[in-house]
Amino acid sequence: MTTMPAAFLGHGSPMNTLEHNRFTDAWAALGLSVERPRAVLAVSAHWYVGTTAVTSMDHPPVIHDFYGFPPQLFDFDYPAPGSTELAAEVADLVRPTPVGLDDATWGLDHGTWSVLAHVFPRADVPVVQLSIDATQPLDHHIEIGRRLAPLLEEGVMIVASGNVVHNLRAIAWQATEQGYDWAQRFDDEARRVLTDDPTALGRLTGSAEYELAAPTPDHFIPLAYLAGVADARGETPRTLIDGCTMGSLSMTSYVVGGEA
Ligand code: ZN
Repeated sequence: MTTMPAAFLGHGSPMNTLEHNRFTDAWAALGLSVERPRAVLAVSAHWYVGTTAVTSMDHPPVIHDFYGFPPQLFDFDYPAPGSTELAAEVADLVRPTPVGLDDATWGLDHGTWSVLAHVFPRADVPVVQLSIDATQPLDHHIEIGRRLAPLLEEGVMIVASGNVVHNLRAIAWQATEQGYDWAQRFDDEARRVLTDDPTALGRLTGSAEYELAAPTPDHFIPLAYLAGVADARGETPRTLIDGCTMGSLSMTSYVVGGEA
């Protein structure tokens, strides 16, 4: 079985689902570069709750978890099947941390489908979503990433969807091709840490710039899962594409594993 990659993709605005830009082109190229995975395990910034859970459903519903966007986005469907088998495997791997098998409350949110719409546009690869336990520190998420790393050898692609810099209050809607100086600096510093020692991600937290980049940690934490996978494999992530947009969003994406 081919080793699959794990990727952290900066998902940006839900509009990226419908748009084509250099970031969505990079996600599409990633999808074309891999053999069809058995399934995708998606860690989304938007399932940020008080526990660790996986969707355990044959047909996960598509959740439109946003407001104020064009109607095409609310009509957007990503009818990928689920995989109760992968959900059970994930629960096994993550032990002793308990993992709830969710068959009713969640599904695929736009953190997942806004990127998978480009990576696997036919929605024909089964997808399981993993929640982020908001009560746990960064190192806990790195550890869960380590435990999930064997999935890559089992034909499962791991996709973590978030943003290194994500500050909606500071957004400059017109600045589509650039970030504020502080945003770019934080994005650069994150790349330095990640490509030096992914387990040292915690070094980035606590600074004034971290407070600006991640006023809430939900979009930053998916990166910790990739860091954990990288550590378990003895690798450092490689940059798939980088850059900031709309002032206070980073779209920088990283990959580990795969047939580089
Ligand atoms: Zn988001």
